[in-house]
Amino acid sequence: MSSFLPPLTSGDLRRLDHEHFWHPFTQMRDWCASEVDPLVIISGSGPYLFDSEGTRYLDGNSSIWTNLHGHRHPVIDAAIRDQLDRLAHCSALGFANEPAIRLAAKLVEVAPGDSLTRVFFTDDGSTAIECACRMAAQYRERSGEPGRRRFVAFDGAYHGDTVGAASLGGIPAFHGLFASTGYEVARLPSIEALEALSPEEAAGINAVILEPLIQGAAGMRLWPVGMLRRIREWCDRHGTFLILDEVMTGFGRTGKLFACEHEGVVPDFLCLAKGLTGGYLPLAATLTTERVFEAFLGLYEEQKTFFYGHSYCANALGCAAALANLRVFEEERVLETLPGKIEAFATALQEAAERTPAFGQVRQLGLIAGIDLIDPTTGIAPDWREENGAKICRRARAHGLLTRPIRDTLTLMPPLCVNEDQIREAVHALEVATREG
Ligand SMILES: *Cc1c(COP(=O)(O)O)cnc(C)c1O
Repeated sequence: MSSFLPPLTSGDLRRLDHEHFWHPFTQMRDWCASEVDPLVIISGSGPYLFDSEGTRYLDGNSSIWTNLHGHRHPVIDAAIRDQLDRLAHCSALGFANEPAIRLAAKLVEVAPGDSLTRVFFTDDGSTAIECACRMAAQYRERSGEPGRRRFVAFDGAYHGDTVGAASLGGIPAFHGLFASTGYEVARLPSIEALEALSPEEAAGINAVILEPLIQGAAGMRLWPVGMLRRIREWCDRHGTFLILDEVMTGFGRTGKLFACEHEGVVPDFLCLAKGLTGGYLPLAATLTTERVFEAFLGLYEEQKTFFYGHSYCANALGCAAALANLRVFEEERVLETLPGKIEAFATALQEAAERTPAFGQVRQLGLIAGIDLIDPTTGIAPDWREENGAKICRRARAHGLLTRPIRDTLTLMPPLCVNEDQIREAVHALEVATREG
């Protein structure tokens, strides 16, 4: 910490946190009552985090699904420092900056297919989604299709927390309040429901939006194999856009750089955030096609301009970190290291499930896993109000693991840099913490 700040003890930090710091998605009554919280994280190294008492933990959910190559990766650290020596930020309204230009070109190069050629930068997953939906909506206005107003979103979907993004979400606990504001949404349970829409209904759909292959916040729920392909075909038949939310699944989590590559699908809008900077800085990107881009071209007075943006769009430090992230993928051949790790993860999960009666269904895709808790005597889900998932994750800290459940689904999503031993340690920590209950 900088020398002009007075030193604080671990106790000081906790006290000040309780007095002033309101944490996201956190019941602050419990938080402030707790003797041991907060765990104050002081430093990181590779897949590990260290707290103010010097205790080491494996970062079992990649710092909420963001980190890829570990903490304090030398290549990303150096790229940010180097950029800092020149410029931290300047506006993208009226100016360009070198790392953002390079990153836009690089993202187009690594994006699936060859039709995603335009990159719009924002700050986080929610704004990447917001940007895609606004582009899609304004596209329809500019193309004389004002009747295409509705967005198809799926049950259990999570697309972020700003009002527009939240209105697309299908998890009532998160989005109930926004049911009457935001986009016009047709919420569907499945591909079959989509395919059952009448031609008139289909003609009113602007875009279908989904998290490809796996829904994260719903509890790591896997979509049926082949569904994404069928959705792409349905969209093509009906002149509907496909918006893919790869905020969680992007950048190798599923074993491929982007989840949509598993089914050979290229969307009309690709939304990227969380892992984009390797988990270092808030930056997001929405990629789209020439067709969409061209609908916004015209004389100034035609007012076809895309009226949308944020102060920190294309932040130079964030773009430098993102370029370094992609460089690490190439230099360390990260994608080639994943199959062995994914296999080890599968074996560890399966063996743990066999030994642990409270583990119900276990779902895995790449280095993402969700483990549903069940009551071993009845075989059904425990009462969520008992907070079993949270209690297990708290006990897992004593076994060197940090992660966060989604209600009574335990989750693991280690950084891509973990080795097979660390994967086994993470699964083991959850298993032991579950048995201690
Ligand atoms: C986290 C997440 C978002 C929202 O991203 P923020 O950066 O938290 O705004 C959107 N979609 C998915 C699939 C996510 O996992």
